[in-house]
Amino acid sequence: MSTMRYAITGASRGLGLEFVRQLLRRGDSIDAGVRSPPEARQLQELALGAGGRLRVHALDISDPKSVDSFATAVGHEPLDVLINNAGIYGKDGTLTGLDYESMANTFAVNTLGPLRLTAALLPALRRGAARRVVHITSLMGSIGDNGMGGSYDYRISKVALNMATRNMHLELCGEGFVTICMHPGWVRTDMGGPGAPLRPEESVRGMINVIDRLEAEDGGRFFNYTGEELPW
Ligand code: NAP
Repeated sequence: MSTMRYAITGASRGLGLEFVRQLLRRGDSIDAGVRSPPEARQLQELALGAGGRLRVHALDISDPKSVDSFATAVGHEPLDVLINNAGIYGKDGTLTGLDYESMANTFAVNTLGPLRLTAALLPALRRGAARRVVHITSLMGSIGDNGMGGSYDYRISKVALNMATRNMHLELCGEGFVTICMHPGWVRTDMGGPGAPLRPEESVRGMINVIDRLEAEDGGRFFNYTGEELPW
């Protein structure tokens, strides 16, 4: 497979950082978004050894101005794949104890952020050959799978992201775009916690495999990191 150009959000740590590692290793180029570039030390170290294939830019996905600046920094050169990975968990709470400010912030990051950024990067994606948009969602955003309840902030933000994925697919598939959402598994990151069964390396290896093999008919669907389809 020839090398491609990716944009990845939330690349300072966790799954985003691991995406950068694995894609750099195989020769791809990446524009990585992080909230605070000086603090993203591991990413900056990777950039030093990447011979210009990794560019690190400031990006707060919940801030429209920051999203625009990121798109400007990514520039007009063809972009093949956008991975909307940045996300937060929000707060736990029962119906009478919800923190609505936290919910609104979780929605701004997990749902509105990927929409805004995809819109801002569309010109560069349209110039690309692959035209793939990948939203990192969660099985916790599946209505069909929800047998436990709780986690209102997170579940609501991700189920809305899932709907946005299907909508984007319907809007853009006529131009050859393949838009999907993907569950990374339960992974040992700051969000997943130390008790999670998967290492970031395994999860990201699986997700890259899925992205590499995407065909037109996969657009608008919800995949596990293993490639199996998940219930909405
Ligand atoms: P993580 O280790 O907590 O990392 C989250 C990343 O998102 C960090 O790079 C963080 O940047 C970034 N981020 C947070 N708010 C942001 C904002 N407003 N603008 C830009 N970047 C922001 O989480 P992770 O496990 O790697 O999660 C990555 C994705 O996978 C998320 O969408 C998450 O919902 C999803 N997911 C994870 C699991 C799991 O088990 N780990 C399971 C299902 C789904 P800072 O360093 O600046 O905070």
